[in-house]
Amino acid sequence: MNSASDWLARIRGLPLPERVRVMNVCGGHERSITMAGLRHALPQNIELIPGPGCPVCICPEEDIYEAIQLALHEHVILVAYGDMLRVPVNVPRAQARSLEAARAQGADIRPIASPVEAARVARAHPDTPVILFAAGFETTTAPTAALLVEGVPDNLFILLSGRLTWPAVAMLLNSGTPGFDALVAPGHVATIMGPEEWDFVVNMHDIPAAVAGFTAESLLAALYSTLRQLIEGRRFLDNCYPEVVRPGGNRLAQQHLHQTMDVSDANWRGVGVIPDSGFVLNERYRAHDARVHFHSYTDDARRRAGEMPPGCDCAKVVLGRIYPNECRLFGVACQPRHPIGPCMVSDEGACRIWWSGGMREPVRKGVTLTA
Ligand code: SF4
Repeated sequence: MNSASDWLARIRGLPLPERVRVMNVCGGHERSITMAGLRHALPQNIELIPGPGCPVCICPEEDIYEAIQLALHEHVILVAYGDMLRVPVNVPRAQARSLEAARAQGADIRPIASPVEAARVARAHPDTPVILFAAGFETTTAPTAALLVEGVPDNLFILLSGRLTWPAVAMLLNSGTPGFDALVAPGHVATIMGPEEWDFVVNMHDIPAAVAGFTAESLLAALYSTLRQLIEGRRFLDNCYPEVVRPGGNRLAQQHLHQTMDVSDANWRGVGVIPDSGFVLNERYRAHDARVHFHSYTDDARRRAGEMPPGCDCAKVVLGRIYPNECRLFGVACQPRHPIGPCMVSDEGACRIWWSGGMREPVRKGVTLTA
């Protein structure tokens, strides 16, 4: 197997175009790229662009608001993945602006790491409704589906905010200004849904693509593959994570998803509605749907409902239109200890990754990502 330095040498030996933009759509990929310092090791003409790879960043503001209100006003225990607790919503300062703030006001909100923990909490408190705020991409939503299929306690309800990754990339490609020349496809998502899900990038849009794992070697192998495809004018979806990503993906996980959920148009925070990009519980699991069982706290009169906080450019960061450090609040008003937007909260958010990885200055002055 080639080492990272072997792959770097191969990439440096390629007759690269003046500028080539390669997007990744996975927070784990962005973290590996940043922490390994790959941007600085690669030739200057290669731009690695973080794209829509953070489920916390794109979770609709109104869903987080709903979770906060349910926790505050219903006699429930609300469990959520740890990252979600600090994501701010747009409400007046006197009100709870995050799940963490609601917890400080007395709501019973508990961080969890997996849906199994939610079932455990529900079984430990059989007389109290427990709401699992299930926000995430395919990799997080599939375990929730598995839990439902296996059977959950009657007092467990799901506030589902699941999203599919590929429709966001399709939206960028269909926009006419995708802002990238090649794609590194997400290894975890491909493990579940199958690498074939990304064939459309190659077949319909003539954009080179390769599925990557999370080591520097795998990421560089995928990058090398896409660059060679570009240079040689060939196109194919390359699987550079074959030890984990198998043709067809994880059929059982897909079966669980099909058994419990439908796919619908869905809102992405700051981005808007993307066709066929959301999971919703199907009729069979209606009895466990928190949106059916509880009063809705949706308030269309709220100012800036659904939007990013004022001044936050998270939506542009998520879509790869700007680098995190091109947001004027980056590192000034917005830092991990006092985040303004969701991209600085989540471990998968590009702003937080860049800040934590010491990427606090513009990488290439004067470069604007907009196509
Ligand atoms: S630096 Fe903060 S305010 Fe700016 S885009 Fe990132 S999260 Fe939003």
